[in-house]
Amino acid sequence: MSKQHNRLPHQFDPFRMSEAGSQFTGEIPLSQMRRLAPLLASDLGHVRVGLRFDVDELGVACVQGEIEADLQLVCQRCLEPFAYPLRHTFGLAWVRSEVEIEKLPTRYEPYLVEETPVLLNEVLEEELLLAIPQVPMHPEKFCRVKISTDTKQTVPKNTVKRDNPFAVLADLKKTRKSK
Ligand SMILES: [Zn+2]
Repeated sequence: MSKQHNRLPHQFDPFRMSEAGSQFTGEIPLSQMRRLAPLLASDLGHVRVGLRFDVDELGVACVQGEIEADLQLVCQRCLEPFAYPLRHTFGLAWVRSEVEIEKLPTRYEPYLVEETPVLLNEVLEEELLLAIPQVPMHPEKFCRVKISTDTKQTVPKNTVKRDNPFAVLADLKKTRKSK
């Protein structure tokens, strides 16, 4: 069992990769993540990625992934940037239709493959968007905006407006849940 770790592919056929049991490690510049970029205070830096494709004992073509990135998010309370070290693992099952999604074991998130090849950045970016907080904020004691204990409230729902880039996240999380 000495599978070689290859460089990350730009695009790939997920079913073939799974059958081959391919493994990849590498880094992708944050500046290439177009949907993520508007949520970041800085797009300097890289996302470190590890991917292990496989076909499991039930015949499900899947990938186990790990992503790590030191993100600079914008605090939605004081609008100052803050460091957010992101560590995220995921298990995706490649499916060709909605019908297949229903048959999947719950440990997988389904990834509907509408056409091949699949762009790696798109897959990873969706995972990153799901992994960052919907309303990023400093831990309270580091935030410039002090909230007195008697007026303390959670962020009201209506702060997530259409023109807020985080609205995209809210929508994305909603669609994911409904699957
Ligand atoms: Zn803050």
